[in-house]
Amino acid sequence: MSKINWSRRSVMLGAAALPMIRMVSAKPGPPAVVISSANRFDGGVNCCAKAMELIKAGADTLDAVVAGVNIVELDPRDSSVGYGGLPNEDGVVQLDSSVVHGPSRRMGAVGAIEGIKTPSKVAKRVMEDTDHMMLVGAGALKFAKAEGFQEENLLTEESRLQWLVWKRSQRDRDGHSNWGPGLDAPPEPPKTANLEELKREFPWASDELLLEAIQNAYHPPHGTINCIALNEKGEMSAVTTTSGLAWKISGRVGDSPIVGGGLWLDQDVGGAGSTGRGEENLRVCGAHTVVENMRRGMAPKEAVLDALERVARNFNQDRKRLEAIDLKFYALRKDGEYAGASLWNKSSVEARQVAQFAVCTTDGGSRQENAVFLYARSS
Ligand code: ASP
Repeated sequence: MSKINWSRRSVMLGAAALPMIRMVSAKPGPPAVVISSANRFDGGVNCCAKAMELIKAGADTLDAVVAGVNIVELDPRDSSVGYGGLPNEDGVVQLDSSVVHGPSRRMGAVGAIEGIKTPSKVAKRVMEDTDHMMLVGAGALKFAKAEGFQEENLLTEESRLQWLVWKRSQRDRDGHSNWGPGLDAPPEPPKTANLEELKREFPWASDELLLEAIQNAYHPPHGTINCIALNEKGEMSAVTTTSGLAWKISGRVGDSPIVGGGLWLDQDVGGAGSTGRGEENLRVCGAHTVVENMRRGMAPKEAVLDALERVARNFNQDRKRLEAIDLKFYALRKDGEYAGASLWNKSSVEARQVAQFAVCTTDGGSRQENAVFLYARSS
């Protein structure tokens, strides 16, 4: 082909492409959407609102979701995330977090990190400033300090009280606890934590806190925040951050910092995350499963319910055993469609609470919506 012919062809092709280019640029992008777990004290609603505010101002989607979850990490009232999180069996708060940045397809995570209020920011630095994916324990703290993070005591008086109540509840088969009266004291019948007794011991604590402590001693709670965002350019990012399972063995890492388990995102398809019993989520590689379900054509709602069905299958659908498990999945597809799903319609501990998640859209503001669920509790 001669040079002249080739350039003529290019000019012709170029001219033919012009209307197409106009069409492409006129095609509207997806709507901006942020979703998250619900969390207490309006944690999820505030998180989504903050992330959306930053997205509207043109911020990167990962900066937006991290700023959103920072509100919850720094709130000592949420005892499942960051500062004020319930500690491990040694009374030490150990935090887990992971982040995924859709546009660069990069990820970072920290596991069992101590002394840093905002582990999500450390996970982001692992992604940005190292060629590693995940740092844990003492190494993660050393890295955070080198990056300028301040080491602080994360155990609040309220969380310490809850830990002490749990310690007291631990008894051997004779009903003895080293955290009760000494071995030389007259024998006492085994007892469960008693509100009046605790009121005398912790006169500064509210009844609400003491009742929560008793509840949490016998049913170790979970709690986490997961947040996923989509902007109008189709860019997506996500984060999960938690103090994990209360009273866990030191060094236990749940699903939250495991990329593919507690968090996964491929912005060609969408993102997903999870809160609840991390061990059961890891057995189905939940967040990755949800995204792959959407890749194969399932709507977000079907995708999250399918992942929960896999969890139920691991127990042969035995509802009696499954009743002890709280687990939720959240999914946001690249076109803005989203869903939240829970194994049960209500939580096992706060039985009055209907399973919900938070969402913020440009037209609807930040709010909680009911999640779909696999099973309904009888009471
Ligand atoms: N998924 C977290 C974990 O297992 C806890 C939770 O979300 O409740 O560590």
